[in-house]
Amino acid sequence: MQMQVAVLPLARLTKRRETWLIDRKSTHSRAETPNPETDGREVLVEAGHRCAIPTCRQTPVEIAHIVPWEQIREHGFDNLIALCPTCHARYDRGEIDRKAMLQYKANLSVLNGRYGDLEQRVLRLFAEQANAHQIWLPGGFDILLMNLLKDGFLTDTGQNSGVILAGVPSAKLYGLTGGGREFIKRWLSAQELE
Ligand SMILES: [Zn+2]
Repeated sequence: MQMQVAVLPLARLTKRRETWLIDRKSTHSRAETPNPETDGREVLVEAGHRCAIPTCRQTPVEIAHIVPWEQIREHGFDNLIALCPTCHARYDRGEIDRKAMLQYKANLSVLNGRYGDLEQRVLRLFAEQANAHQIWLPGGFDILLMNLLKDGFLTDTGQNSGVILAGVPSAKLYGLTGGGREFIKRWLSAQELE
């Protein structure tokens, strides 16, 4: 009885592995470890439930395969990206190349790994306004902007609203640095961020 319990999971594992190895042989571009399948939810979360192309950011979104399903036959997280129907159709027609799409995917991971929600919003606001280089934000938010400040993409101009509440200015003026503008340019044009 005990033996059966021990044998069963092993048999399952072997079957899974064989399936994966056959799949791997047919694509020639797989990583050494299997890419776990996803139900798509984390793909949507990764892109903030908006089109992952930073110049688009439209809704609604669909889940697209970066390497086509016909070639890869799996729904692994690394091969999926959230796109609006327009960008999805453009990608499928070859109007957006795969190298760019892979970089958009990689950059989502850099942004999510390094920057918090407020920081990403600040970057997006500057991305939408190519000529803007300053932003007023409520005082006391330095900790939420910590990595942008640390990376030298945002600076505290020293200017504030002049209204001080419990030692904290009601608003502070931050500036986008040249490095910050360059980072945004690279992000928008599907270049490597790290
Ligand atoms: Zn789009």
